[in-house]
Amino acid sequence: MAGQADLVVIGGGPAGAVSAWLAARDGARVVLVDPDRAPARVEGLSPRLLDWLQRSGLPCPPEVPLVRVSRRSLWSGTAHEGNREILVARPAFDRHLRDCARSAGAGIVTGTATPLPGGALLDTGRRIEAALVIDARGRRGSRRDGLRRGPPSVAIGGWLDGPADTPAQSAVVPFDEGWLWFACLGGGRAWVQATLDAGTSARPPRNRLAHALGCCAGQLPPGFRLADAAPVVRECAPLLSAVPDDLSVIPVGDAAAAMDPLSGHGMFWAVSSAIAAAAVRRSLADDPGGRMLARRFLSQRGEDVFLRQARIGRDFIRAEAGRAALPFWQARGGFPDDEAAHGPVAGMSVRRQVVVQDGRLAELEVLVSASSPGGVAWFRDLPAAELWRAHAEGADDARLRQRFGPGAAGFPDWLAQQAVAGSGAL
Ligand SMILES: Cc1cc2nc3c(=O)[nH]c(=O)nc-3n(C[C@H](O)[C@H](O)[C@H](O)COP(=O)(O)OP(=O)(O)OC[C@H]3O[C@@H](n4cnc5c(N)ncnc54)[C@H](O)[C@@H]3O)c2cc1C
Repeated sequence: MAGQADLVVIGGGPAGAVSAWLAARDGARVVLVDPDRAPARVEGLSPRLLDWLQRSGLPCPPEVPLVRVSRRSLWSGTAHEGNREILVARPAFDRHLRDCARSAGAGIVTGTATPLPGGALLDTGRRIEAALVIDARGRRGSRRDGLRRGPPSVAIGGWLDGPADTPAQSAVVPFDEGWLWFACLGGGRAWVQATLDAGTSARPPRNRLAHALGCCAGQLPPGFRLADAAPVVRECAPLLSAVPDDLSVIPVGDAAAAMDPLSGHGMFWAVSSAIAAAAVRRSLADDPGGRMLARRFLSQRGEDVFLRQARIGRDFIRAEAGRAALPFWQARGGFPDDEAAHGPVAGMSVRRQVVVQDGRLAELEVLVSASSPGGVAWFRDLPAAELWRAHAEGADDARLRQRFGPGAAGFPDWLAQQAVAGSGAL
């Protein structure tokens, strides 16, 4: 039996749910397929993603509690406090985003599917014909033949029970065989996750997690013990996938580029890649001949973000200098390469690049700087490259405002900040 849609989205994590939501809001007939079987686990939302959700009308309802914590990092032998993160239970968060897609008009099918030419095949044997397929199956996406793949890594996560009066908080703790993320939700409940080498131990996952917890116990609040539930084991090596030449399937989120959990950037990337895929979908609907441009855009964007995050992660690994000779740290300190994460600090240049403009693809000049190696097309709603040229020819803040309007105010200050390489934060 066959159904028909304009778009089939396979996978209903953040990338797939937001893709379906955006398409339904555009008036497309969308089917989103997801088994609703994601394992119980906690992850950290960045304030930037939370802000986008709120501005876009997707705020989390009360049944998806957000626990705001200060993250303590014990990296490179010193304690840093103060980075904020927002703890959320992933299955509830993902269900909320799928509900938003449903409310916008997407059809939701509970099950699994595989992409087919011209649509998707459901696990029931039913076919859905569609002009476009979005692959949002996460790391289970079809293009597992990665263009780039980091050292084989595994994350073992589990629940902890402990004292009810320990305040909500999170901590990142390195140890000889990897690093540990501890996320206390308050009320005596915490989630712990150890990132380890995938191939070096024959011990069962629960024992590996208990060992990791034991190694870091001195750095964590006292009294927490592993609960009885079986641990959740997830592959977590950085992985960049290829974009199919014919764009018959558009990969988004982890199916396009899966980051190291150390980056804390995965969900933000999932959502931003869904927005980029929506621009591709709209542009192809206007002009089916624009596939080359769209493919170039998706490939370049995936590679830029992947390499930047991988290099930032590598620099964090290298910062743990006292462990540099240990196998886990040595293997990850060399991936993906030795290039700087943020490009040359002093250099600023203009290049032509495919960007999203008014929700569609356009080839424009972008300004490339140390803190924006992926290129910036706009300063507010003004063309950044033109402002930069005018400033380089001597126009100060007042002259820029005269020529481009009040929106140009502050451009020279912004430019000065761009020239300074930003740094990621644990
Ligand atoms: C250990 C670990 C910790 C992490 N911690 C963080 C963090 O703290 N903060 C952060 O921002 N990111 C974190 N990440 C990254 C983040 O989890 C991912 O980047 C993000 O979930 C990607 O979203 P996605 O929608 O692309 O894929 P996923 O969230 O993986 O969603 C894929 C969906 O597709 C479904 N699916 C799979 N196969 C099929 C099929 N055949 N048919 C239909 N549906 C299918 C799955 O059930 C799932 O619902 C972490 C990753 C790991 C591995």
